[in-house]
Amino acid sequence: MGRAYSTIAFDPAKCDGCGDCMKACAQVKTGTDDIARSRIQIQGREKAFELALCRQCADPKCVSVCPAGALDKDGDTGVIGWDASKCVDCLLCTVGCTYAGIALDEATGHVAKCDTCDGSPACVPACPHGALKYITTANIYNEVGQWEDLFAPGLAGCQGCNTELLMRHTLRRVGPDTVLATPPGCVPGMGSVGFNGTTGTKVPVFHPLLTNTAAMLAGIKRQYKRVGREVTALAIAGDGGASDVGFQSLSGAAERGEQMLFMVVDNEGYMNTGMQRSSCTPYGAWTSTTPVGETSRGKTQDAKNLPLIMMNHRCAYVATASTAYMEDLYEKLDRALEASKTGFAYLHVYSPCTTGWRFPSHQNMEVARKAVETNFVMLWEYTPKTGLHFTKSVEDPLPVTEYLKVMGRFRHLSEEQIEHIQGKVVENMQFVKRMAETEHVG
Ligand code: SF4
Ligand code: SF4
Repeated sequence: MGRAYSTIAFDPAKCDGCGDCMKACAQVKTGTDDIARSRIQIQGREKAFELALCRQCADPKCVSVCPAGALDKDGDTGVIGWDASKCVDCLLCTVGCTYAGIALDEATGHVAKCDTCDGSPACVPACPHGALKYITTANIYNEVGQWEDLFAPGLAGCQGCNTELLMRHTLRRVGPDTVLATPPGCVPGMGSVGFNGTTGTKVPVFHPLLTNTAAMLAGIKRQYKRVGREVTALAIAGDGGASDVGFQSLSGAAERGEQMLFMVVDNEGYMNTGMQRSSCTPYGAWTSTTPVGETSRGKTQDAKNLPLIMMNHRCAYVATASTAYMEDLYEKLDRALEASKTGFAYLHVYSPCTTGWRFPSHQNMEVARKAVETNFVMLWEYTPKTGLHFTKSVEDPLPVTEYLKVMGRFRHLSEEQIEHIQGKVVENMQFVKRMAETEHVG
C-alpha cells in the first residue's frame, strides 16, 4: 500500500476568480504583489475558472523528465522539492507537468512551484469563498499500510464493497494468531472460506450456521485454551444473522462472558442473498422484501438497535464504529482485542452497501460519513467501568435528508416518512445521551 499525503483541493463552483489566493502566494513566496509570480494560478473567465497548481503527484512526470535530478519527492511530506544548485534551467519539467504546476518565474529566471508552505498553505485561508481546502491525510493508512493483509487478493465482493475494506483492516489489526468465524453473509460470500477447496483467508477460518456462530466460536476458543494455545477468537458476522436467528447464541455467549471479539458488519439487510430486510434495516428503506409500489412504501418498522442491546448484557466492551472514521475504528479494535482476553467484546460497524442501498461505489465513504454527520449513526463505546461515552459527538447535525438523499433505497420517501425518520434520529440521540450521562459504579 502506498503512502497517503495531504493535498490542496479546488472547488471551481465556489471560485469567482478574485485572485486573492494568488496575491497571498506572491506575498509569501516573493515578497511582492505580482500575481504573475504566484505559484498558484487561477485561469479562466466569468464563471469558468481552472487551477494551475502542483498536485505533488505520486508518480511525478516533472521528476522523471528532469535531466539534472533537481526535483525530488519527499517521502515523508509527499512534497516535490526543487534544488536550485542542481537545476540547469532547461525547463523540461514545465513541459512534463500536465497541470502547469511548475512554471518559469521570469523575475528570477528559474522555475518555481508550490511547496504547500510546509503544510500551512497561505493561499487556502486567503480565499474568501472557501474554494480552496487543505485536505490532511488520515495518517492511520501510512501507519498500517505495511501490515500484512490476511485476506487473499481478488475476493468476490461487489465493486466498492465497504465490507471487504472492513474485513481487510480488521484482520490486519487482529493479526495472524486468530481463528475466524464467518457465518453465512457477504463475508463468506466474497470468499473468506474459499471456493473449490481453496481459502481466501490466511488464518484458520470456519463457516458456522447463522444460528450458532457465537456458540461454536466459544467452543473453539475453549478447546484452544485447553491445549494451552492463546488465540484471538474473532467472528465477522452480518447484521441479519446476528440480530435475528443468531441472536440467541450471541446473547448467550455475551451473558456467559465468553472470551471473543464479535464484530457485526451492519449493512442493514441480508444483502448477499437478494437484499432482504433484517431487523437492523431502517424504517422506510426499500429492500426486496419491503418493496415500493402502490401498497407498500418500504419497511414499516424501526431498526433494532443491536449495539444498545449488547451494552445491556454488560459485556466487557461494546462499541459502534464506521470505516469513514478509520482512526476511531482502529482504536476501538485495540480496546476490543484487549477486552476479549478476559471477556466478551462486541464491535458494531456500520457498513454502507453499494448494491443494496443503491448508490455509486465511489460514494461509499461519503455515505458512511453523512450517516454520522446527521446522527443517523452515533459513534460511542462502553465498558462496565466507564459506562457509555461518545467517541465522536455531533452537536450540530445536518438534517437527515442530507443522508437519505444520497441513496436510491430512500428515493420514494414521503414527507411523513422523512419526518418519522428525523424524529427517530432525535429520539435515539436523546436516549444515548442520557445513557452517556448516567453514573457508573463499575
Ligand atoms: S500553498 Fe503556498 S506556495 Fe502553494 S500556492 Fe499556496 S501560498 Fe503558494
Ligand atoms: S528546469 Fe531545472 S528542474 Fe526543471 S527539468 Fe530543467 S533542470 Fe530539472
